[in-house]
Amino acid sequence: MIRILLNFIYPPYCGGCGKLLPLTTKSLVCDECRNFILSCAPQISFNRNLKVITCTKYEGIAKNLVVELKFKGIKSLGRDIAKFMIFAFEKFLKGDNFDVIVPVPLHKKRMDERGFNQAEILAREISRATKIPMKKHILKRTKNTPSQRDFDKKGRFENVKNAFFSKSVNGKKVILVDDVFTTGATISSCEKTLREKGAKEVVALVFARA
Ligand SMILES: [Zn+2]
Repeated sequence: MIRILLNFIYPPYCGGCGKLLPLTTKSLVCDECRNFILSCAPQISFNRNLKVITCTKYEGIAKNLVVELKFKGIKSLGRDIAKFMIFAFEKFLKGDNFDVIVPVPLHKKRMDERGFNQAEILAREISRATKIPMKKHILKRTKNTPSQRDFDKKGRFENVKNAFFSKSVNGKKVILVDDVFTTGATISSCEKTLREKGAKEVVALVFARA
């Protein structure tokens, strides 16, 4: 009831195409956009030794969804985006007995500016669906690096080198979660840090690949 009332004041629209949605909607992605993303079959690729699973390309509808979540702060879209990632998880990772889900962290300063970490929102939803615990304090971003958008590929690897700290994950199988995979520099740096602290396996589950 409260949702309907709020929807009346702030009419809900699809995060993918901007179309207005029914006041009773529970999802912020319309059927057409959902079906489109689901039609882009999730993919596995390898970033050196790291298995990376992505749901779709970072363009059009998928890009709009990430922008709405991350830069416009429409946090409830996280649940819709995570659903695509859960679909990919079920296709490629289910039954592999992972121990923990770890979101790629933001530096405290960036976190204070944005007020939330989109990767954490996604990780929490995936954890809820898969029953694999999400632990947001395992990885910490210790260097407040400038945005990766300001660098070319080589620069991006340098920028995030040694930017993370990890607690012990000895013998654990870890799923790293993030919203966008570009050069893989950030994910690789996280992976390296986790492996140094004993991770038995690390895979990355990311919504979109740029
Ligand atoms: Zn739409």
